[in-house]
Amino acid sequence: MYLERLERTLPELRVRLERACRRAGRSDADSITVVAVTKSHPLAAIQAARDAGLEVIGESRVQEAQTKWETAGDLGLNWHLVGHLQRNKVRHALKMFELIHSVDSLRLAVAIDKEAERLRQRASVLVQVNASGEESKYGFSADTAFGPIVEICALEHVRVEGLMTMAPFTADEVVLRETFQRTRALFDRCRNELEMFEGRHMSMGMTNDFEIAVEEGSTMVRIGTALFGERVR
Ligand SMILES: *Cc1c(COP(=O)(O)O)cnc(C)c1O
Repeated sequence: MYLERLERTLPELRVRLERACRRAGRSDADSITVVAVTKSHPLAAIQAARDAGLEVIGESRVQEAQTKWETAGDLGLNWHLVGHLQRNKVRHALKMFELIHSVDSLRLAVAIDKEAERLRQRASVLVQVNASGEESKYGFSADTAFGPIVEICALEHVRVEGLMTMAPFTADEVVLRETFQRTRALFDRCRNELEMFEGRHMSMGMTNDFEIAVEEGSTMVRIGTALFGERVR
């Protein structure tokens, strides 16, 4: 059932990505990473994602990911953590996830650094920016993020590959665009001023706003509903 759905929704997604790129004068639609967000869907969704040719899946809770992982292994996919990470789950997270999108405090970054050192790894992360300023959202405010990003970049066992943001849940295109533009401005500043900031990825855009995010420079979209349908909880 998931595979049938993906055979329809994935080509649609690719067309929409392509069009959004074209509107923005971007010729790199193929290099935008699609993170297929499988949270609150069963393992079958992850298997179908792989069968449909997707390469990256996103989960938002360590515990849920772990249950799936322990049943099936990584299935040859890259697993990304897109949701908030508690410090006491860092050890488990580093075992499963190739990229953590949600580094939202210096304390968490330090905990990741420590655990990565113990595992003799370098953990790849994105710094989460709360570019909309909503109180309910995790992440550094766009105005004050630069200082902490400097400190996170200095951690020896952490590799900062870019930024992630979540826009507000709104259909207001102006608000969405401003959120992404603020993130983009911070991304450009980090890239220009920080040697240790690798600046490979801007993870922006979900089902409701990914086209605007792509127009504003996103390199990584996190898509659940548009691929797998509404989540049941
Ligand atoms: C659930 C989730 C998504 C996917 O949301 P959709 O609107 O279903 O595409 C993306 N990013 C994060 C951080 C999420 O928690």
